[in-house]
Amino acid sequence: MSITSKIQEYQQKLPTHVTLVAVSKTKPISDLQEAYTAGQRVFGENKIQEMAEKWEALPKDISWHMIGHVQRNKVKYMAEFVDLIHGVDSYKLLKEINKQAKKYNRVINCLLQIKIAEEDSKFGMSVEEATTLLASEEFQQLENVAIVGLMGMATFTDDTSQVQQEFKNLKTTFDTLKAIHNYLKIISMGMSGDYELAIQEGSTMVRIGSSIFGARNYASVN
Ligand SMILES: *Cc1c(COP(=O)(O)O)cnc(C)c1O
Repeated sequence: MSITSKIQEYQQKLPTHVTLVAVSKTKPISDLQEAYTAGQRVFGENKIQEMAEKWEALPKDISWHMIGHVQRNKVKYMAEFVDLIHGVDSYKLLKEINKQAKKYNRVINCLLQIKIAEEDSKFGMSVEEATTLLASEEFQQLENVAIVGLMGMATFTDDTSQVQQEFKNLKTTFDTLKAIHNYLKIISMGMSGDYELAIQEGSTMVRIGSSIFGARNYASVN
């Protein structure tokens, strides 16, 4: 199936309260251009330099999301244009994003990544860390970042009930924090293999790559 028809399919089947992030990491500009022509405006990348190159090459009404783990020393390469950073997992990182955003007189939207998976390989904060951060004086003094929601990645497993439970946990955490911090709006959870379950459990933003653009070939990229 073509990228165009995949984008159209998702536009039709996703509920209107769910934003589709087309995850285009490792894919050539021509693939993103095709998705853009089909109407897609939100793209997700996991490497900052690759995202910056694509931002330069493509139309400027695209909303760029950084969905990968962020190294502090690279924040400066995306501060001018990034629309949403999904993987914020420490106050230190938030402080650096704030510093770089200030240079462009911007407020950069961020999601706190919560560790919901059992796997050690997944990044993220504990619920306690996120709770403490949002309540802290230090965070409230950062004027050039806005935390607009939470992000989580489920365990990579065929066990649907485990994935479902992890999504439920993220939703519960979101509801608890939102009761205190009303500005939280987004729950970013769900990928190609589990987005339907994620939406069922309350996701408002799905990050879909391989189902739109085809399997990724990492060998040819790095
Ligand atoms: C690559 C990636 C995705 C997309 O995964 P697919 O299975 O290709 O849909 C979603 N979220 C994050 C954080 C990713 O790194």
